[in-house]
This record gives sequence, structure tokens and C-alpha cells, in this order.
Amino acid sequence: MTTIALPTYEDAVARYEPVIGLETHVELGTQTKMFCGCRTEFGAEPNTQVCPVCLGLPGALPVANRAGIEATIRIGLALNCEIATWCRMARKNYFYPDMPKNFQTSQYDEPLCVDGYVDVETGGKTYRIGIERVHLEEDTGKTLHVGGATGRIQGATESLVDYNRAGIPLVEIVTKPVPGLGELAPEVARAYVTELRDIIRSLGVSDVRMEQGSLRCDVNTSLNKPGAEWGTRTETKNVNSLRSVERAVRSEIIRQAAVLDGGGRIIQETRHFHEDRGETSPGRSKEEATDYRYFPEPDLVPIAPDPAWVAELKAALPEKPSAKRARLREDWGISELDMQSVANAGAVELIEETIAAGASPAGARKWWMGELARRANETGIELSAVGATPVQVAELQKLVDSGKLNDKLARAVLEGVVAGEGNPAAVMAARGLEVVNDEGALTAAVDEAIAANPDIAAKIRDGKVAAAGALVGAVMKTTRGQADAKAVRDLILARLSA
Ligand SMILES: [Zn+2]
Repeated sequence: MTTIALPTYEDAVARYEPVIGLETHVELGTQTKMFCGCRTEFGAEPNTQVCPVCLGLPGALPVANRAGIEATIRIGLALNCEIATWCRMARKNYFYPDMPKNFQTSQYDEPLCVDGYVDVETGGKTYRIGIERVHLEEDTGKTLHVGGATGRIQGATESLVDYNRAGIPLVEIVTKPVPGLGELAPEVARAYVTELRDIIRSLGVSDVRMEQGSLRCDVNTSLNKPGAEWGTRTETKNVNSLRSVERAVRSEIIRQAAVLDGGGRIIQETRHFHEDRGETSPGRSKEEATDYRYFPEPDLVPIAPDPAWVAELKAALPEKPSAKRARLREDWGISELDMQSVANAGAVELIEETIAAGASPAGARKWWMGELARRANETGIELSAVGATPVQVAELQKLVDSGKLNDKLARAVLEGVVAGEGNPAAVMAARGLEVVNDEGALTAAVDEAIAANPDIAAKIRDGKVAAAGALVGAVMKTTRGQADAKAVRDLILARLSA
């Protein structure tokens, strides 16, 4: 294959119209698996959470987990879907080493929830994304390729299979195709996944952690000339972060534009997104639904949720994240744009809890959106996993408000908190970081600085007040940054003005 020069993104979207679609898998946080009583804890010893049912041993019979069905219905309701009054699970037949049954229990033409929508805000505008279906299925196990450099099968000496994840309930949420976004397609795709994550998190049915794989996203992209029919789509698999959702759509638009420019044809295939290079590479050519030989699952009874139960679940849905953001925006007194960055950083609940623990809205927002967001970005982890809790951040801010810490010292204390050294007050004490407020100690330090710098002191006595900065610096040095700089300056001027 010849290499084709890539157009710029701006050039690509000026000449082609993208159509995107997103398929998102959410691992539910149920105590037990979907069709057996096995535990579902993340990170357990391999193959310790398995039984004859989820290992697909002969004669084992599945029984549906009511909590999994309930969570799926609640997701469907939160996404404005209609809930089926009767539907069945289906067998999706294919062989994969991490799927012990040789079929996945899923749903095919009878999904539990259909025809909903999500309103997504970005750049001050709202976009309605149609939801085609929300269905229930089970997760597969995990294959580990070891002995190679990359963790991929190429170059590996052994492949190991862990079935702990096999049978954990998985909800698949499929959007309708979204045309008409133009150059904003990557940004809206990201905003959609962010909103979906927040909605599902608000329901408490999953921890929706992309880095742990409990929220996984496949992105479909196609291009067409303005006015022409939609093009052939590709499916970029398992995009593992919000940022990657945006980058995957963007890079696929550029790649497809280059192929079309060169007179080539887009092949319907799955592709893999490479985080490091920001590009996709081809995977397998896409199977058709008929390849899976779907048929209704004979070992499970149909699911027929009582409409009264569904109505009850609907009435008990929590406040929508978008409504909550509007309410909090008022309470916190911040702009819509600021609220959007708070939401995008995954900081809404963290700031809310920090305020509930006694911090002011401005104080809470400052730490989560400043120092802690920076750390989360640098280390590539979610803000909620950064190592400080809302209660600790509130305590830190209280120490600042009471004058025990200045800004610089507070950052050092936070560093200790994040490093696991304990709560802010304990870190402050252990590292000796408290602001020196003791007047006697400060006066001694000031007098020492004056005595050591007679030339500067003389200048200040002559009215050159600006020279005080050098003495303040000297005092801050002897107090290891633990003095209040303004108090030190006032004290210096007072001592030298007589
Ligand atoms: Zn099991």
C-alpha cells in the first residue's frame, strides 16, 4: 500500500461531512455476575471468581440476576428510552479463548430499552444524540499475553486466560448515527461519552472508570461528500479515555479523507486506536450479524418487566446531571464555561462533597481544578483517584482560612496528603509546615535580617521602601517560607521607620 499524504483536519472537514456513532459498554457494579452467584471484585486473583455456569461447563444452567435487569432498565429510563414489556436474551455464537461458553449471552432483535436520547452540551450549544438501543449482555474473560515486550500476542511466549470477568453484566448503549456535526464531531463525541458517564454514575449502577475498563467505547466514523450518501463506516474499538474518544474520531476523519482523496475506498472494518501515536490501525474486517448465528437463549426465561415496577423505577430516578450542574452553577456562582470544565474534569461530585465538608465553593474549586487536576492530568488518572479525598481538601482549605497555612505551604501539605502521609493537619505537623505567627519569633528573624544587611536597612531608613523586598526574602528564607510575607514586610517597615 502506498502512503498517501494526510490532509489537515480543517481541510478534511471542509470537504467531507463526518457521520459518527458510538457504542458504549458499561460494566455494571452488581455484587454477583449476571447468570451465576460468582463475585465480581476488580483485581482479584485470576480465576478465583468462577463456577460451572460462567465457565460454561456441561449441564450448568444460568439464572438471571434481577439487579442487572433493574440497572439496565434504570439506564434506559435515564436515557429517555422505551422499556420493552417482553424481551429475550439471545446467544451470540463465536469462538474466542476468553469466552468459555463459545457464545455470549446477549440481546439481538429484542433489546430491553429502545429509542431514547441524550442532550449533550459543548461550546455553549446543546446537541441531541439519539439512542437506538440499550441492551443487556455478559462480559468476556481477559487474555493476557506474556513474555513479549508489548503485551500483545506478537512476540509473546504464553497466553494466559483469566475468567473472573466472564459473566459480569454488561450494558451496551448504541447511539443512532449522528450526522451534521461537521468539524465539531470529535468534540461532541467526547461530550456525549462524558455525559453518559455522568448519567450512569449518578444512577450508582457502575463506577464507570474508563481506565479500569468498566466504561469502554467503540467509535464509528464515516465520511461523505456534501449532499452525497453516507460513506462506509469503520469501528474504532476500545477507546480508553475521554481524550482518546476525541482523538480517535479526529484521526479517523483525517485518514479516511486521505483514502478518499486518493480515489480509494473505505473498507468496513474494526480498527484499533493507539494512544501513543494518536492513530488507528486496521483490525479484523467487520463480521455481519448473520455470522453470529443469533438465536433466542433457550436456558433463560423471557424478561417481562412489570410496567408498575418500571414506573416506580422511573419515579425514583435521581436528578439529571445537567439539571444538577445548572443548580450547582447558581450555588457556586460560576460561569457556564467554568461549570463545563468542572464537569469535563469529573470534579462536580468531588467539589460538592468538599463544600459539604465545610469548604467554600471557591476554595473547593481552587484545589480540585488547580493543583489536583494538574496532577491527575500529568499522571493520566481520574481526579477521583488522585489520592486526596473531599474531606481532606476541605480540611486543607480550613487551615488556609485560619491562617495556619499560606498558599505555598498548603501546596506542600497537599503533596504529603497525596503521597499518603495522612490528613492535612497531620502532614502539617509532621513536616513542620505551619505558618510562623509567633510575634516574638518573627521579630527576632526580622532583627536578625536587619543586622545582617546594614546597607539595605540604611536605604529603607532613607525612605527607599522598595528595598524592603530583599529583607522580606531573607526572613522568608530563615523561616523556610513559613512566615506571612505581608506581616514580615509590615514588621520590617515598622522597625526601620522610627
Ligand atoms: Zn460463576
